[in-house]
Amino acid sequence: MKILVLNAGSSSLKFQLFNMDDLSVLATGMIEQIGNDIGQAKLACNDDTGGRQETEVSRVISDHSSAIELMTVLLQENGVLTDVNELAGVGHRVVHGGEDFRKPVIITDKVIRSIRELVPLAPLHNPANITGIEVVTAMAPSVPQVAVFDTAFHQSIPQHAYLYALPYKLYEEYKIRRYGFHGTSHAYVSKKAAAYLNCSYKELKIITLHLGNGASAAAIDCGQCVDTSMGFTPLEGLVMGTRSGDLDPAILFYLARETGMDFGALDSLLNKESGLKGICGNNDMRTIGKMAAAGDAQPLLALEIFCYRIKKYIGAYLAVLGGADCVVFTGGIGENDTKVRAKCLHGMERLGVALDLEKNDSQNDGIMEIQKADSRCKILVVPTDEEFEIATQTMELIG
Ligand code: ADP
Repeated sequence: MKILVLNAGSSSLKFQLFNMDDLSVLATGMIEQIGNDIGQAKLACNDDTGGRQETEVSRVISDHSSAIELMTVLLQENGVLTDVNELAGVGHRVVHGGEDFRKPVIITDKVIRSIRELVPLAPLHNPANITGIEVVTAMAPSVPQVAVFDTAFHQSIPQHAYLYALPYKLYEEYKIRRYGFHGTSHAYVSKKAAAYLNCSYKELKIITLHLGNGASAAAIDCGQCVDTSMGFTPLEGLVMGTRSGDLDPAILFYLARETGMDFGALDSLLNKESGLKGICGNNDMRTIGKMAAAGDAQPLLALEIFCYRIKKYIGAYLAVLGGADCVVFTGGIGENDTKVRAKCLHGMERLGVALDLEKNDSQNDGIMEIQKADSRCKILVVPTDEEFEIATQTMELIG
């Protein structure tokens, strides 16, 4: 039997097929540019001889429903799935679970209604997630489906940390509060870190830094998330590829008055034109790193601003936790960019966080431990695997 994991974005669909017996990956795929002029689908799987088999398709993929149909055809044509009824379960990453969902759930009509009610809080993502669920239901009505929420891990954050200093009735009437995102990744890497250190998860104070195109930090106190940098939406907090992260909200009023920008333009400015891209014109950290190393001033500035913001959050979470046992780096940048890690942690020795530059520069596909021998706090690089975590949670729920 097999488990399928679907991670639907606003115009993309990431999927992974697992063997249920050992949770080994049978196939990995990505469909992009859904709804655009021309879409692309990629599938990688193992062939009969144990070699790697890769398939690419370019064609119009009008919506998520067509994307899921194409995914099914690709899985069947490549021999990794004979029939959808061969699936023991399907796990969906659902971005927003609001305050209702504190853990993964088996999907029922009531759950779908609740996810739909949360669409105003995640207008780009929750509709794509619902479509994914509905298409699978139509294709394979008897296959159980599980929703794993990006927000769920952060539901343990206490009220003083999740409420904004706004009139309280805005929370009561509009549910305006910090929700936090990337929860599956923060949960996965923090548990992996505890297992690697051979410590009980319930006894460790951990700061996790998920640094990818989207970036967020979390403070985890003895197994409970107590704060995170993303807020009501994934815009708050750290500097990201194209998102500004924290800023003075009065900048928006000022820009609206001075330039006549409307809500849509301001939304796009902060979500799509800011962050690393806004500062240096590029949002790919590999390119920024190369340009900065070549002495280009704007990429270097973007790098400094990116790392300084992370450093401030680490400092804040060291205070929130009363010191940390472990700092964990993950995400495309956190796992690979040695310079970013070094800049973020520079000068923190007095706080008990001492990076070993040589260990930081070493390469390893798995977990790396990169603190100095006398560092009070461990520093780990832990590759994230949200799909694996969703597959695990799906298996646990479907029994
Ligand atoms: P997403 O949030 O889209 O899942 P990822 O976690 O894949 O993003 O991270 C993407 C970011 O990671 C990009 O900025 C990319 O340049 C950066 N990245 C990936 N590999 C490396 C590397 N070897 N060195 C530095 N940055 C890297």
